[in-house]
Amino acid sequence: MSAPSSLLAAKFSQQQIIEFLSGKHDEWLFDQAKYVTQQVFNNQVYIRGIVEFSNHCRNNCHYCGLRSGNRQVSRYRLTDVEILDAVSDIAQLGIGTVVLQSGDDWQYSAEKIAKLIEKIKQDFDIAITLSLGDRKHHELKLWRAAGADRYLLKMESFNQSLFNQCRPHSDFNERLARLKYIQSLGYQTGSGVITDLPGMTDEILAADIITLSNMALDMLACGPFIAHPQTPFAQHANGDVLRSHRVSAILRLMNPGANIPATSSLAVLQPNARELALMRGCNVIMPSFTPAGVYHNYNIYPGKNAATKQVTQRVASIFEQIQHHGLQPNLSRGDSKRNHYVS
Ligand code: SAM
Ligand code: SF4
Repeated sequence: MSAPSSLLAAKFSQQQIIEFLSGKHDEWLFDQAKYVTQQVFNNQVYIRGIVEFSNHCRNNCHYCGLRSGNRQVSRYRLTDVEILDAVSDIAQLGIGTVVLQSGDDWQYSAEKIAKLIEKIKQDFDIAITLSLGDRKHHELKLWRAAGADRYLLKMESFNQSLFNQCRPHSDFNERLARLKYIQSLGYQTGSGVITDLPGMTDEILAADIITLSNMALDMLACGPFIAHPQTPFAQHANGDVLRSHRVSAILRLMNPGANIPATSSLAVLQPNARELALMRGCNVIMPSFTPAGVYHNYNIYPGKNAATKQVTQRVASIFEQIQHHGLQPNLSRGDSKRNHYVS
């Protein structure tokens, strides 16, 4: 496989992507993805602080440990003060983006979240990314007006039948329409897939990559499936690290300016897999600033938030690993560069 390195968005067919997923062209693929990522982001890795403020969820996704049917979760909800304290910890380190994430927890009313956004914007010079699930259109509109900058809503797969098998209480068309509505509100918008979801074929994954790339998204997330013992997918095999790396590399070539996080699920499967992903298309890392008392309970999959070190030590060790690969941690807002690199 040879083609000149280019910073313009590549267009790959489904068949070409399937060929990449086979692993036959890893050397070329990873070299190209590394080149494009380093050129576009100037060897910088954006750092985001994530606050997982509630692990309550009304949904029952078959892959996720927070599903409502899992009675073994110790559930928590952070108060406004606790959330603001965590945001303050992030801001004090100079990190320019906070990601607020939760299960689909309707106990946090639209007005409550809007007030929180306003307060964060008033007290800190920080970008806000929301990842709060399937909220109503008027709520999404209210939060954008309150100052939220970005919204992440992963489809997990754009294949309707696979989606339905994985997210039984979720409506595929509504979620897709919501994603497009979020984009229309002017949020920097993100979506993504879980690679190796049970039932996901190469054909489905390749089609997902094309759909994601055609949507002109600002953030693209791909991380491997990890089987959680208290879910219906407990007996399925974990996803493959290399395959997730191939997906991030392909997504980078097709979306040069998008922000692509190296997910924590990679680190769970293989100790250096998250840092290696930074050499294979990813350019963002999101350490958790969820308070120590509840940190371990945001157990989406085994190994998630399992570290025993304090957050400052965890951040320091992420910085070391980034530098070890010849890259630099970058604390700025790190907005999407999508519009700079379209073909
Ligand atoms: N509730 C919101 C939603 O689903 O959009 C946001 C929180 S949810 C826990 C965040 C992400 O966790 C999901 O988008 C999904 O990709 C990921 N996730 C959940 N269970 C997983 C698993 N077993 N393996 C890998 N990723 C998983
Ligand atoms: Fe809830 Fe999100 Fe987990 Fe589904 S993936 S069960 S919506 S937290």
